[in-house]
Amino acid sequence: MAIILKTAEQIRLMREAGRITGEAILKARDVIRPGVSTWEVDRVIHDYIVKCGAKPSFLGYAGFPGSACVSVNSEVIHGIPSRKRILEEGDLVKVDVGALYRGYHGDSAKTFAVGRVSAEATRLMERTKECFYRGVAKAIAGNRIGDVGHAVQACAEEAGFSVVREYVGHGVGSHLHEEPDVPNYGTEGRGCRLYAGMTIAIEPMVNAGGAGVRVLPDGWTVVTSDGRLSAHYEHTVAITDDGPVLLTDVGE
Ligand code: MG
Ligand code: MG
Repeated sequence: MAIILKTAEQIRLMREAGRITGEAILKARDVIRPGVSTWEVDRVIHDYIVKCGAKPSFLGYAGFPGSACVSVNSEVIHGIPSRKRILEEGDLVKVDVGALYRGYHGDSAKTFAVGRVSAEATRLMERTKECFYRGVAKAIAGNRIGDVGHAVQACAEEAGFSVVREYVGHGVGSHLHEEPDVPNYGTEGRGCRLYAGMTIAIEPMVNAGGAGVRVLPDGWTVVTSDGRLSAHYEHTVAITDDGPVLLTDVGE
């Protein structure tokens, strides 16, 4: 599959899908507290997306059973929402959401603290968001994918953290996953060139300890190999002649 460039009209439609995606995450944030199950977080997201006339992108994707991926602490991504997984004070919870609206997907993820969290968790969460912003600042027509990845990686590693290699950002549009891959590591000036009209998900996955990850026997949940914390921050970004535009950003 080649890179699919979008017209200004298509990007405008993607902004609608992006808005629903971003708002669904804020709905989740509003219910996250000790005692709430990850299934309840998923329900809030599902119901909001459906209420907006959209479809949860992840529901049924390769058989995924939830509308959102809800991953806790050492879980990096693809956590399966569960009635049995009850959030506790001090947890770090990653909420990853996709919404399909009028033929286009939005894809976004944020990390939230459950009650009071450790100083390390706070530092990791804030740094991961900063990694995203350092990366997106390089998402400029004429630059290359390696410029984005290099910026993300440098931001993580300067803080003593590491970036996940096995899972990467991606193009997004009428398909949830399109070309090109958008790694959270790279070399400046290398990789595919960025053009206006590209829409990509930039999504740093940053580990407090080593970069290694493995998949749990459920076939989905990706966890850090060393059991330490991980954080995730993602927006769908349009590369335009006026610079990067965050399609899933609805404010904090
Ligand atoms: Mg995502
Ligand atoms: Mg994504």
